[in-house]
Amino acid sequence: MKNIIFIAPPAAGKGTQSDLLVKKFGYEHISTGDLLRAEVASGSDFGKELYEIMNSGALVSDEIVTKLLENKLSTVSEPYIFDGYPRNIAQADILANLLNKLNKGECVVIYLDVPEDEATRRATGRLSCPNCNRSYHKYNESTRPKVEWKCDDCNTDLISRDDDTEETFRKRYQTYVENTSPLLDYYQGKGMLHIIHNPVVPEITSAEIEKIIK
Ligand code: AMP
Repeated sequence: MKNIIFIAPPAAGKGTQSDLLVKKFGYEHISTGDLLRAEVASGSDFGKELYEIMNSGALVSDEIVTKLLENKLSTVSEPYIFDGYPRNIAQADILANLLNKLNKGECVVIYLDVPEDEATRRATGRLSCPNCNRSYHKYNESTRPKVEWKCDDCNTDLISRDDDTEETFRKRYQTYVENTSPLLDYYQGKGMLHIIHNPVVPEITSAEIEKIIK
């Protein structure tokens, strides 16, 4: 199985696809958003600073996120999924150097091409389990929890993210367009980019991903 870098607008389904890959193929899921949210949950002053930045829709500094990523990367084995990193060209260069330095295998880059209105709909409907991290969507038949607001796997109360309100989401989307979307040309130029257009049904998207990673 090949290592994966997911590039997509926020709420495009990276978390859902990562969950499926973890379950089916034993991928390690490396989400910088989750690593940052764990810092926020610790309640430290540093966590409070991070919360402000994340809730403004902006990006956390490359230095902070890279440090968290590097710590995590040293503890995981392949194959893994990068979800939410890189978020800009500087981070893409850092990641390439890091993988080289740690003697890790190459990645394929998978772009989930979801239009802004659809991404907004998904963000405002998404739920997650704070215990096992499983993602759900309250408007989608196939990814809705069986019991409202309860995790199917561990029965924990589900939560929605503070930065998934429509107002913050619009800012996050803008940040994505300005900072992250240039990565498409960057990875296209390196021959690493695979595009999945308008992924709607998670199982169909997952089958398309499988063709790329095998
Ligand atoms: P996510 O869960 O990937 O949507 O990330 C939530 C928030 O965490 C983002 O809106 C950013 O503020 C921050 N974040 C996550 N990953 C990165 C990254 N690679 N670089 C900078 N900020 C990040």
